[in-house]
Amino acid sequence: MTSKRQISDLSIFGGTPIINKQVHYGQLYFPNWHDTQKLFQGIFERRYFANHGPLVRELDKIIAEYLGVRHAVCVTNETIALMVAAKALDLRGEIIVPAFTYPSTVQAMNWSGLVPIFCDVDPYTHTLTAELISPLINEKTSAVLGVHTWGNPCDPENIQKLCQTNKIAIIYDASDAFGCNYKNIKIGNFGNVECFSFHSSKLINGIEGGCLTTNDDELAARIRTVRNFHVSESFSKVPLRINGKMSEAQAALVLLGLKNVENNLDHNRSIFETYQNHCEHIQGIKLIKPIVESANNYQNAVVEVVHDQTPLSRDQLLSIFEAEHVEVKRYFFPGVHNIVPYKPISPSHAYKLPVTDNLCNSCMQLPIGSQISIELALKISKTLDFIFKNSHKIVKKIEN
Ligand SMILES: *Cc1c(COP(=O)(O)O)cnc(C)c1O
Repeated sequence: MTSKRQISDLSIFGGTPIINKQVHYGQLYFPNWHDTQKLFQGIFERRYFANHGPLVRELDKIIAEYLGVRHAVCVTNETIALMVAAKALDLRGEIIVPAFTYPSTVQAMNWSGLVPIFCDVDPYTHTLTAELISPLINEKTSAVLGVHTWGNPCDPENIQKLCQTNKIAIIYDASDAFGCNYKNIKIGNFGNVECFSFHSSKLINGIEGGCLTTNDDELAARIRTVRNFHVSESFSKVPLRINGKMSEAQAALVLLGLKNVENNLDHNRSIFETYQNHCEHIQGIKLIKPIVESANNYQNAVVEVVHDQTPLSRDQLLSIFEAEHVEVKRYFFPGVHNIVPYKPISPSHAYKLPVTDNLCNSCMQLPIGSQISIELALKISKTLDFIFKNSHKIVKKIEN
């Protein structure tokens, strides 16, 4: 480690990177090989790989217990979970969605035959709010798809009231929010149904995997029916089914992730607090902090570049960190409204999503997860401090 004293010490200008080798931190957590091997051995001994084997059945139960929810139904990935949710609720017409999110959240709604209607987000929580959703509701609206972005609960009480009044459903994308809570109730208990991801970039890693949770017994039965294209049991009536079954291998990894979830969460919290303690005073950035009524899982450490406090752009910061071998990502860029097939056909057709547009150009995710040490988080924080203290000089040199 070389700490930066002058701007020529930055790697982008020829200095030594703060770490030797680029760490791809997209894998937030891996269980240890010994435990994994033991569970995989069981799968091979039983010769039972898919179709609701013992590990998937155990996992459905354990997740429901952990989240304090009546039903958890595991599936292949969260994109499928969202599609299963839409069919189990038999949604038609329009669904109100954020554009400041991951593409598959919205794509899953098109695959389900729905028309997504983009809604702007709150500048502080980065989530939809009842106030923003309300003007978009019309006779074609069948549901709202809220995202608990960065683990921030998506205005649960007000959206619940609004949707009840208008008799429309609520699906939550809880990809960022496994283990988070709102007023001491775990995420997983809100809306009609919540969908989680066990992709390796999430708190719990199933090397792909997902889950739906609900407190509605009838809906749970329909979800279980949609999950399985199979026809040999007596099933609830649903409009269309799919193969969404989780494999035993995925379930094994998710079970191990759950066993270690508290340690994993503690580690992420200490990384987050390191960023918080050492970056809070920096003029030009704002670390997105959990709202007070919630507990976060620290799956994300997201920083917003405050453009009227610094000449540095978010993308210049990405280049500076890339040269330092630190993977800092743009989240979410481009916004879903600016990718095919949603991209406006001409500037005059542009969506009116001012907060979303600003966030898409100013948010970046700092490394977090089991591959990041507190020492590295400290180096990253000090580098950020150095960069912002010298931002005018740096911008001048980059632009020359
Ligand atoms: C990761 C993610 C998804 C997709 O989850 P998969 O399991 O990869 O399909 C959906 N929404 C958000 C907000 C995500 O971050």
